Amino acid sequence: MKTIIKNTAPLVYVGLAMLLQACSQQEVPGTPSRGIVQIAEDLYRVQDDFHFTVFLVTPEGIILGDPINADAAMWLKGELAERFDVPVRYVLYSHYHWDHASGAQVFDDTATIIGHANMPIALADAIATFPVQVTLVDANGDQKFDREEVSGELAQDFDEIDTNGDGFLDGGEILVDVMLPEVLYTERMTITLGGKTVELIHPGPSHSTDTTVLLFPEQRTIYGVDFLNVQRLAFGFPGDGTLQQWIDSLRAVEALDFDIVSPGHSSVGTKEDLAAYREYFEDLQAVVTDAVDSGTTLADLLSSDVLTDYSDLPNYDPQRDRNIEEAYNLLTQ
Ligand SMILES: [Zn+2]
Repeated sequence: MKTIIKNTAPLVYVGLAMLLQACSQQEVPGTPSRGIVQIAEDLYRVQDDFHFTVFLVTPEGIILGDPINADAAMWLKGELAERFDVPVRYVLYSHYHWDHASGAQVFDDTATIIGHANMPIALADAIATFPVQVTLVDANGDQKFDREEVSGELAQDFDEIDTNGDGFLDGGEILVDVMLPEVLYTERMTITLGGKTVELIHPGPSHSTDTTVLLFPEQRTIYGVDFLNVQRLAFGFPGDGTLQQWIDSLRAVEALDFDIVSPGHSSVGTKEDLAAYREYFEDLQAVVTDAVDSGTTLADLLSSDVLTDYSDLPNYDPQRDRNIEEAYNLLTQ
């Protein structure tokens, strides 16, 4: 991998990322806050603190994954203009969540914005009700971001984001920068530009109902966000899927022809890393199913030694307990 850009933009999103427990995952301290790294021929990985996206450069334009957020998108647009002679021609959403999908309007002057067919309804539901990312920080259960519940960027910019001035951040205010896709697909869609190809693939519901995996066949790389991880336990679980749907989605991705996994959080990995992640879900399903079937209480399951084989993973604590609790609740609801 060749690093071509490392800048030192302030870590303005650290607090935000810590807040977004449903989506965000801790990175190694000291990594650059923003940067672009080449991961395969013509394929680059973009970092904005704890969030990552990818782009493919072709002679006729750039195919970008998620815009991440409006500030990151504006920074990235400038970096791309300095380094390449072609505009961004496509923005391809991984899913509708605001911490990955905000800011596509920055590229809308030259790009077509594409997402899964479930994205408009999922986005509308989240605006009307409650963004899934808020769930774990909603200490008082009022289904809103209270001022005392937020940190980082949301705390810093609370009054600016709170456009109706009611003292709370709701779904509409938080998702305001997520632009609807201009083109929708359902199962699979192929984009060809400048003689190069990317495929959008819907592996089924898991972290969200509108999940898209990007497959770059010539680069033998996939880009997937939040529903898959490399050498981490699950965050954002269960999201909108059952345990079996998570496993099925991961198996659907494993069936694709690739070598490299470039996730929306954490480090780049291999197909073997993805298989290990799916095996973790299968272990989780097995131990929790056994516990439910045998009448073991959640407290007894948590205090047992199940899944302790994963204790060397960096987010084992607290995600092992959270995953067990969420899986247990899914199976007993
Ligand atoms: Zn997400």
